[in-house]
Amino acid sequence: MLEVKQSFEIEVDGQKIIAFPGETYLEAIQRAGIYIPTLCYEKELIPSGQCRLCLIEVEGSNKLLSSCTSPVQNNSVIQTKNKRIDKSREIILELILASHPLNCMVCDRQGNCELQKLAYEYVPAERIKRYEDKTPKVEVIEQNDFFKLDYSMCIKCGKCVQAVEEIQHCGVLTMQGRGIDVFPTPGFGRTFEEAGCVACGNCVAVCPVAALVPNTLVKGGREVDSKRTVTTCTYCGVGCQFEVVTKDNKIIYIDSYKDAPANGLALCVKGRYGWDYVHHEDRIDIPYIRKDGVLQPATWDEALDLIESKFRSIQNDHGSDAFAFLSSAKCTNEENYLMQKLARGVFKTNNIDHCARLCHASTVTGLVQTFGSGAMTNSIADLTNDAKVIFIIGSNTTEAHPVMGIKMKQAVALGKTKIIVADPREIEISEVAEIYLQQKPGTDLALINAMMKVILDENLVDEEFIRDRTEGFNELKAVLATQPLELMSKITGVPVEMIQKAARLYAQADTAAIVYAMGITQHFTGTFNVAGLANMAMMTGNVGRPGTGVNPLRGQNNVQGACDLGALPDVYPGYQKVDKPETIPKFEKAWGVELSSVPGRTLVDMMGAAKDGDIKTMYIMGENPALSDPNLQKVRKALSNLDFLVVQDLFITETAKFADVVLPAVSFAEKDGTFTNTERRVQMVRKAIEPIGERRADWKILNELLVRFGFEKRYENTSEIMDEINEVTPIYGGITHDRIGSVGLCWPCKDENDPGTPILHTTQFTRGRGKFTPSEYLDPAEMPDAEYPLILTTGRNLYHFHTGEMTHRSTGLHARRPFETSEINIKDAERLGIKNGDKMRITSRRGTLVTVAKVTSKIVEGVVFMTFHHKEAAANLLTNDALDPFASIPEFKVAAVSVESLKEEDPLLAD
Ligand code: SF4
Repeated sequence: MLEVKQSFEIEVDGQKIIAFPGETYLEAIQRAGIYIPTLCYEKELIPSGQCRLCLIEVEGSNKLLSSCTSPVQNNSVIQTKNKRIDKSREIILELILASHPLNCMVCDRQGNCELQKLAYEYVPAERIKRYEDKTPKVEVIEQNDFFKLDYSMCIKCGKCVQAVEEIQHCGVLTMQGRGIDVFPTPGFGRTFEEAGCVACGNCVAVCPVAALVPNTLVKGGREVDSKRTVTTCTYCGVGCQFEVVTKDNKIIYIDSYKDAPANGLALCVKGRYGWDYVHHEDRIDIPYIRKDGVLQPATWDEALDLIESKFRSIQNDHGSDAFAFLSSAKCTNEENYLMQKLARGVFKTNNIDHCARLCHASTVTGLVQTFGSGAMTNSIADLTNDAKVIFIIGSNTTEAHPVMGIKMKQAVALGKTKIIVADPREIEISEVAEIYLQQKPGTDLALINAMMKVILDENLVDEEFIRDRTEGFNELKAVLATQPLELMSKITGVPVEMIQKAARLYAQADTAAIVYAMGITQHFTGTFNVAGLANMAMMTGNVGRPGTGVNPLRGQNNVQGACDLGALPDVYPGYQKVDKPETIPKFEKAWGVELSSVPGRTLVDMMGAAKDGDIKTMYIMGENPALSDPNLQKVRKALSNLDFLVVQDLFITETAKFADVVLPAVSFAEKDGTFTNTERRVQMVRKAIEPIGERRADWKILNELLVRFGFEKRYENTSEIMDEINEVTPIYGGITHDRIGSVGLCWPCKDENDPGTPILHTTQFTRGRGKFTPSEYLDPAEMPDAEYPLILTTGRNLYHFHTGEMTHRSTGLHARRPFETSEINIKDAERLGIKNGDKMRITSRRGTLVTVAKVTSKIVEGVVFMTFHHKEAAANLLTNDALDPFASIPEFKVAAVSVESLKEEDPLLAD
């Protein structure tokens, strides 16, 4: 039923406006588009009334009220501007200016300083320094790799302190000092990093003056001379939007775009400060062709001619099956669409895949089997506003999806939600968890089955939901009967009573959501793990309502979109099955060419076929399998065995080193298009700077190849490509660039009148009835033994992304984590004679490497953790390429390894 919000009328400056009970005057007045000055108000922070500039006069009251802290009253008659109010504002500003340096002419914030703007508006020139604070100035500057805090510029509005407390929940800044010398500080004499600062910069984003500014703004170009472009982050799947501030075709800094739908003003350190790779000297800006075994500069015509002639001869000699295409979760929807069109429409092969195979392929198979659709069921806002309980399993949310992580922490702090965390490592989000379960890697299904068993045995199921909306519940009951709680407890290492507590908390909540990531999917049993979570949600009726659902957090910025647009070997755009009778005729008609109805090879399969000589050529766009794929020695053999390899990227990556042709592509900041975030929200990517040198947008390169190979249509812009996507992709049918605007649209969005779908499966599942798809617990493909007695598990950290090609070329990010440090439990370390900071050798059946030990009690005994961000200690030399049989996703999360202390110098750590 539509909720009708009560409202009443108030009069503001002679104009009637609507207000709602519980809101403040400022909220009602701003919503009506009436301007009120303020220095301390921020939509996402608790109003403090600190600056007193938002004063209003309410009829019947003698006092001027601060509108940001005064609750609105029915029938009020208000003035926002009159002589008395203006005079008060003038005096307040004069007093602030008394202790603020008037160095506006050389201030980097000029053009974006709230104080300067209000002084101009309210203070006559002759009174600008009517009062002067004669006390000696505190001229301290705290600076880290990302921003600086200049105490002398501070106006003590307190917004930065509120931002760290209310948005980031890190407590890094507090107000300290006495009298006029009260300042926000990480602690006088203490660095930001010592205070635990993760450099999200959310405090910098709210500073109304130049007390907190990004380092790159200092002498980088004044705000008044710069341009702002709203676009979408290129790192993780949260899909934060922000403004790119540029001058003379260079990025100066990235600022919050406060109306961003997924993130509001919050950004993480990568989104806000990890952009300098765009201007890095390692960027390639001309094509390269391998001659005499060396990559040598070439013109675009030479490179494209060579690709054309090689591809033609390979097709003549070996046919379509000899081709393989890797599309990209970093590229736009439009580019992924063109890549699969090139593979299918020109070379008649469905051998196209991308890194979703390595992260969420089992999400697609598991959720399609159970729900009929393999995407996040609910939206980010819905999850953090409406879920009474969030069960996070296999997701290091605060590091891998940082803004989502802080939104969950906010929800806990506001008492909206309780969190259950299950992870082999005591990750940051577990600090705010009601219940923390530390299961051994690879035992997730045992934990999920055990929780479901408790729910069933204690009759905490939603019988009505099971009866009306699902099928196969008896099969689930039969499987759970074979999973004794005590045995599951022993397998997982989690005590029975903890499993019971978690199951009860989840099942008894009015609204309970499940959030997971690659800790669940990257397993030999990935599909069963995902289906297990879907089973648990269905048996408790936690699907199809706000604050519920099964929510896979997508890793890369556009991995959702790359899947949606058909960069997969078994589906065309919109998950239209290659081998379904109606699909091929539909696309043959739309594209005017013949197509193949034989499903293609997956990424891992392609590598095997390349190694065996069956795949002769690969076209890799924006992916780096020579570092990102499991069992790297095998992958590198496969790449070197190809007759012809084309790589399209920003740098000479580890993969590009194997290429015959390298094409210089552009970064997110240099192109237009759309990304689809983890909540299925399609958002605009807007060009902030023109491509430098001869770099070309990926869509332009693909367009050129399509034309060279016979397609007549030359797209003028990415909007035209989206128009074609609308025609052939029902779930994107109503998503046009014009309609996306600033809030985006969540698919399915079938036509131009469809507002999009933030919550899936509200009345029925995509497949009709939800299908319980149970499985008994199965051991990981490789278990520890006498030779390899420990388990290696892999993941991400906050300061790097994926294979680190971009983040290692971002000065501040690289400085925070210049090399790999791998976690080992304190007891294992003691036994092996390893101390914190020692070098240690890790060896699996597939390879060996040297890394630096981080000895900790936060990881379960018997387990070692590595990230895959560092090429000098490439974790994937060790990982197992055993595949989930349904999704072909490799088991990155469990590999049996041996570890030894290494005392001698090792060249692998020379960097
Ligand atoms: Fe970018 Fe993800 Fe950080 Fe948001 S949370 S700024 S999308 S990396």
